[in-house]
Amino acid sequence: SGARVRRAQNKRLPQYLERGVDVKFSDVAGLGKIRLELEEIVKFFTHGEMYRRRGVRIPGGILLCGPPGVGKTLLAKAVAGEAGVNFFSISASQFVEIYVGVGASRVRALYQEARENAPSVVFIDELDAVGRERGLIKGSGGQERDATLNQLLVCLDGFEGRGNVITIASTNRPDILDPALVRPGRFDRKIFIPKPGLIGRMEILQVHARKKPMAEDVDYMAVASMTDGMVGAELANIVEVAAISMIREGRTEITTDDLLQAAQIEERGMLDKKDRSPETWKQVAINEAAMAVVAVNFPDLRNIEFVTIAPRAGRELGYVRMKMDHIKFKEGMLSRQSLLDHITVQLAPRAADELWFGEDQLSTIWAETADNARSAARMFVLGGLSEKHHGLSNFWVSDRINEIDSEALRIVNVCYERAKEILQKNRKLMDAVVDELVERKSLTKQEFFGLVELHGSVKPMPPSI
Ligand code: ADP
Repeated sequence: SGARVRRAQNKRLPQYLERGVDVKFSDVAGLGKIRLELEEIVKFFTHGEMYRRRGVRIPGGILLCGPPGVGKTLLAKAVAGEAGVNFFSISASQFVEIYVGVGASRVRALYQEARENAPSVVFIDELDAVGRERGLIKGSGGQERDATLNQLLVCLDGFEGRGNVITIASTNRPDILDPALVRPGRFDRKIFIPKPGLIGRMEILQVHARKKPMAEDVDYMAVASMTDGMVGAELANIVEVAAISMIREGRTEITTDDLLQAAQIEERGMLDKKDRSPETWKQVAINEAAMAVVAVNFPDLRNIEFVTIAPRAGRELGYVRMKMDHIKFKEGMLSRQSLLDHITVQLAPRAADELWFGEDQLSTIWAETADNARSAARMFVLGGLSEKHHGLSNFWVSDRINEIDSEALRIVNVCYERAKEILQKNRKLMDAVVDELVERKSLTKQEFFGLVELHGSVKPMPPSI
């Protein structure tokens, strides 16, 4: 009957094939050297014969490791797109079924399709869902997963070295994968894709801006520096959201402002995902506001790019981005005064905690910055900048550790008092910055300096050291 014919035809239609994948390396930005490794994988397809003749082993599987949204899927598609081969994909969480045997049969079907339509890339998303070390999950769910994993190993081995079906898998947890998966001939090549840095973020924004009507003078760098910690998926979203506000306001071009506002929306979306108690938000805000308010008095440190208490991956607190001359700082070429100012800024969170919450409430929120202050103070003494210890660096330092430490401590104490004094004199500004931070989570350079202008900022006396 007709139904049977249709079913028979459906059977031949590959289920896992993604049609019309037309991604190129130029669609993936901010890759740097990783691109070379991926270009080589493309060559396994296009120059497979050459590799085989020269006895180069073509890997069966490549593992793309990195956090969500950095472009692992996009890259796998770009490999297929550049090589001009078919792209098959499945999310490993689809393998994990409660019925024994379902996952394994899906793996078999996937690879059968890929082979019938070779050359092809098989992409397995979230490999760790199925590839966790065996025996870690107890019960029938674990059994099913083991059966699926075993099937996957069999399929990987079937293609080893042939170069006409290459498996690319993504994971954020390469460390928990079953050792059998990463044995030679299987996923024996790992490529790490980190979160993009400043330049990477700018390039990603530009790639997504290519298809949009952008104003000519868009400042991508400004947007990139506002989006620290964000990944490609979030940056792509920012461009989309900016386009929507352009349309909504009946304009024809996307401006820097559209992008900056979209960045704030994206950031707030990130914030909503992370809940802190109102007290914690306030405490973090005081911590960051204190650094900014103290820094604004110092010529070398007042170049504040933004102030934020937005939680970021890998950072519990927010931060103040100051453009200090890091090279000078590393090489000890900062002036004596700038170094003292730097120490004072690093102690501001500690001082603010004491002023706002009292001695006995002192938390550890400022532990990291207080550490920075201590090591900068030692550097100050060792560099012979402290008047009492001119030329100290000419002596055997180890003999004088106590002396150095006590002098460093003295400097820390002087700077600490100075930080406290600045905060007390600028209480109005502090309160305003803290309120704004709690309310909006991030302040741009303009917003911060707007508050400084509104409330004024009282400069301290230079310290006597
Ligand atoms: P992952 O697989 O690492 O979770 P995706 O590849 O699914 O991330 O990324 C989602 C989307 O984010 C992509 O389709 C693309 O629009 C955008 N994106 C991510 N990384 C980049 C990048 N490096 N360059 C350009 N766009 C990117």
